[in-house]
Amino acid sequence: MTPLETHHAHVAEHVIKELQKRNMEGYYCSGPEEAQTLVSSLIENEASVTFGGSMTITETGVLPYLKEHRKDLTIYDRSLAKNPEEVQEIYRKAFSCDTYLMSSNAITKDGQLLNIDGNGNRVAALIFGPRQVLVIAGMNKICETMEDAMNRVRNTATPANCLRLNKQTPCALTGSCSDCQSPDCICSQIVTTRHSGTAGRIKVILVEGSWGY
Ligand code: SF4
Repeated sequence: MTPLETHHAHVAEHVIKELQKRNMEGYYCSGPEEAQTLVSSLIENEASVTFGGSMTITETGVLPYLKEHRKDLTIYDRSLAKNPEEVQEIYRKAFSCDTYLMSSNAITKDGQLLNIDGNGNRVAALIFGPRQVLVIAGMNKICETMEDAMNRVRNTATPANCLRLNKQTPCALTGSCSDCQSPDCICSQIVTTRHSGTAGRIKVILVEGSWGY
């Protein structure tokens, strides 16, 4: 391992202990292939699965892996919806599905998740509904404090997501958050997850490297 990878392993070990105190489970994977097989092992046979908007689950290959290797799963993919009504239907299916896949915009070293959501479907499913939520996150998402996490989300993750989604927001133009109320603002909901009411419902899979925004 490189010194940076060793450092990340130490950080991940600490974060996993902090997650446990908050009723969440934590895992650390040395790379995307390990994450793919771990995620698959955490999903029971013939489960229903859906996912929130996330670059991480695509970049790490987790979602493509499940589609290719887990033909027993029922995967609701809103990118395949034929019309807006079907998209809405898939959003609502998330609340009764077995497993929800997502990333987190940031994770603090003391084990809290921070997520910003425009539509709200992703944070809603994180909070309530799916029997388990698998949060897959690169080590780039780890922040020292909640203040650092908020700074990361507002000034790195959201501007990048606005550019990806072609949103005309101040942060997409300047790279910095101006706490806007623009019609395209994607910061409708700001959710801190500091504890899981159901033990182990939220499982955080940290993946070595930089994944997603
Ligand atoms: S509040 Fe507006 S400017 Fe700030 S990060 Fe969100 S979309 Fe960008």
